[in-house]
Amino acid sequence: MNDIVSQKLTELVQNVKERKISSEEITKAFIDRSNKSKTLNSYITENFSAALQKAKKFDEKPNLDLKLPGIPIAVKDLFCTNGVRTTAGSKILNNFTPTYESTVTQNMWNDGAILLGKLNCDEFAMGSSNETSFFGNVQNPIDKDLVPGGSSGGSASALAANITPITIGTDTGGSIRQPASFTGTVGLKPTYGSCSRYGIVAFASSLDQAGPMSKNVKDCALLQEVISTYDSKDSTSIDFKRNNYSSELTKNIKGKKIGIPKEYRVDGMPKEIETLWSKGTQYLKNCGAEIVDISLPHTNYALPAYYIVAPAEASSNLARYDGVKYGFRSNGENLIDMYEKTRSEGFGDEVQRRIMIGTYVLSSGYYDAYYLKAQKVRKLIKNDFDEVYKKVDAILTPSTPSSAFKIGEKSNDPVSMYLNDIFTVPVNLAGLPAISIPAGVDAKGYPLGLQIIGKPFDEQNILNIAYAMEEKINFKNKITDWWIKWTMKIKNFWFLEKRIFTK
Ligand code: GLN
Repeated sequence: MNDIVSQKLTELVQNVKERKISSEEITKAFIDRSNKSKTLNSYITENFSAALQKAKKFDEKPNLDLKLPGIPIAVKDLFCTNGVRTTAGSKILNNFTPTYESTVTQNMWNDGAILLGKLNCDEFAMGSSNETSFFGNVQNPIDKDLVPGGSSGGSASALAANITPITIGTDTGGSIRQPASFTGTVGLKPTYGSCSRYGIVAFASSLDQAGPMSKNVKDCALLQEVISTYDSKDSTSIDFKRNNYSSELTKNIKGKKIGIPKEYRVDGMPKEIETLWSKGTQYLKNCGAEIVDISLPHTNYALPAYYIVAPAEASSNLARYDGVKYGFRSNGENLIDMYEKTRSEGFGDEVQRRIMIGTYVLSSGYYDAYYLKAQKVRKLIKNDFDEVYKKVDAILTPSTPSSAFKIGEKSNDPVSMYLNDIFTVPVNLAGLPAISIPAGVDAKGYPLGLQIIGKPFDEQNILNIAYAMEEKINFKNKITDWWIKWTMKIKNFWFLEKRIFTK
């Protein structure tokens, strides 16, 4: 049996079901691993002692029919967890403990999972590097000088460092897929309406979607099966027939038509990404798929449209943080003074920038010129996808225009930071499902991802394509492997020392 923390979710589940390993042993192993990886700063709030208690309780009377039996899982700190602090990476929610549970996390606990802790993220999920978090930046376990991506950076970092066997993130404009790509992991952004938004701290409500992040496609399918349910508590939740994604997973993608959009060949795209993309098409051909050249003519307008729609919705959603009802409050001389002080001290720079942009584009006089126009562009982008989906079953693109960048490299240049979302935001604007899978490394050995975009509600299809490609790609997160082996060596050395000492 593999070292516990390096096991894939499905291996752990199997081992629990065969009673080869207990929930307590698994939980202890991940806690131990987390304690040794503190410098990554993946956690905002640990829930270790409650997790251990739950694990012991599970072992006393294990229900082995559950899909995640006694499996400890850490989640992005954007999901409200009943009785456990939920900050959204912000000072303004530093002291907020919800009295209710998000539907997505509730689904996981109902299927036997145990909350290990809350993972770091960009403040209110606004960012592409996890550097906007009030709780500090997160390191990429591939190389500690690199960002893990964002906004689900803590989730991706924890997953790649084996701190959690699987995790969930949220994706408004790429926050699951981009960090997955930067850390050599898998991330699925489901169709809008597939996973309930109830109990997720809102950023941009027409774009936000929760989804699984995992070490391989099979684990991703299993978690998607658990979290995707219709929910009457979310008015945008959609009641459609969901697949049993993991048991229906197949590598047979023969005859599938996969589109390659010419507009994604952007200026200045590194040669390595171009090569990776071509390799991806070759793998698909080897699997019996047919490659079709397609055009998505409005792709260029997706990024500007996103950076109008998302801040507009954010400015409206974040109006609720006023220091009156909950969260941080800074005392003022009068009510208006209190509002102003609370919001300028409670929100970080990036969040304030978005609130200002959002308020501006929604203000009378500018609404038509910016917000309304962006919504029209959004519709054109959606139409582009509808048109090509008459000809193809899915689309293959790179996940990001570069590999992980250095901590601090883009933090003072918002536009260059926003450009990182170029391949991911069209998917959110059109409400489509898309998955990023690790597909290779650049010259420095840093992971690069490929993105498979599907038709609405066609998660099974993109999971299947990803599953088939995963086998051909046979990606090994070499640097992480090295990192893990090295820490294991230190651990073994310590055991040896201890034995000599006690003799
Ligand atoms: N990086 C994008 C942004 O900052 C996407 C964020 C997200 O998907 N939550 O808006």
